[in-house]
Amino acid sequence: MVGAPSGTGGGVREANAAAVLNAVRAHGPLSRGAVARHTSLSMPTVSRQISTLIDLGLLSESPSPQPTGEVGRPTVPVDLNDDVIAACGVHVGVTTTTYGLTTLRGVLLDSVRIPTPPGTPEEVLQRIAREVGGFLGNWPERRIIGVGLAIGGQVDPERGLLDHGPLDWRGVPARAIVEAVTGLPVHLDGHVPAMATAELLFGEAVHTRSALYFYAREMVGVAVAAGGVLHRGPGQSGNIAHLPVGGDVPCPCGRTGCLEAAVAERAVLERAVRAGALHRPDIRALRSAARDGDATADRILTDRARALGTAVALLRDIVNPELVILGGQAFTDAPEHLAVVHDAYRATTVLPGADIVTMSRFGPDVQAMAACAGLLTHLYAHPFSLLPPRI
Ligand SMILES: [Zn+2]
Repeated sequence: MVGAPSGTGGGVREANAAAVLNAVRAHGPLSRGAVARHTSLSMPTVSRQISTLIDLGLLSESPSPQPTGEVGRPTVPVDLNDDVIAACGVHVGVTTTTYGLTTLRGVLLDSVRIPTPPGTPEEVLQRIAREVGGFLGNWPERRIIGVGLAIGGQVDPERGLLDHGPLDWRGVPARAIVEAVTGLPVHLDGHVPAMATAELLFGEAVHTRSALYFYAREMVGVAVAAGGVLHRGPGQSGNIAHLPVGGDVPCPCGRTGCLEAAVAERAVLERAVRAGALHRPDIRALRSAARDGDATADRILTDRARALGTAVALLRDIVNPELVILGGQAFTDAPEHLAVVHDAYRATTVLPGADIVTMSRFGPDVQAMAACAGLLTHLYAHPFSLLPPRI
């Protein structure tokens, strides 16, 4: 399992290695002297940790020495080694499962989408894990550090269990099932925290002090980061499914005007089919009908965009972050209706300086990236738990 390192040189040594690794990730390539300045560690400690991290395949020396502007011989800078290690990520969605592989720097090497298989939770996860095993067989030259498993619903990362209402899963030992099939350590995380983590590590939030991440597709979710660290509350993730955004859409909770009922992809498609704008539930068909001038299709997508913009503004005014990042296909696949999202946001927010909303840089790759980023975050925080040093 992925957890606290035992007998692997954890503690202070691992904390120092993590500090060196993260300084290089955020600012590299760096000379050893620059790493010492960024981390406030001594030069001997920095040199020792860099040797260990090079041995583990996490860092490499840059090919050509660069002048440092300092007196003495030029130093050889170190940078992340993008050629050896890779992180696998699996995102299990209600209808679609995505898996992929990224480098240490979060560059997606490949990703595959399959329909989420039917069956019991065990059957579904075993079948996905077998597919992932076959996929990883295509990358014999990479050292795969593990599998990041990202999924909606309520996740218990410590015990590797998950509950997923829309899939009707309760207390499923997801981590153990996928570890048994793949033989790799599995890091389980909720999909919205994992997506926010991807933004913190490699995306728009890398250099901000506080950020609000807002996700929408089949589900809606929100995550908050301050000082480069994702806030994780006790027990379960925050829930914005029933945030009141107005309107007359009935929600399974018995009220009307709840956010998720208004914007979830399946709910939007059901409305479009009922209204006669579509023969079958297909989000691409709905968008192209709206583009072709179908007034009903356009109204349904406009209503969805307005509800999203209103919700983003309500949350922005509560959290007051430096940056708001919008992710998920409800935003990234809907460029025609983004102006409606922004207009509703501006009409609702009451704080000054509204121009802080940006789009996730991962677009339709967000699910695969998120799953990989959950594992990479664990690696950057506890490198020896996934890659024990030899001494
Ligand atoms: Zn509700």
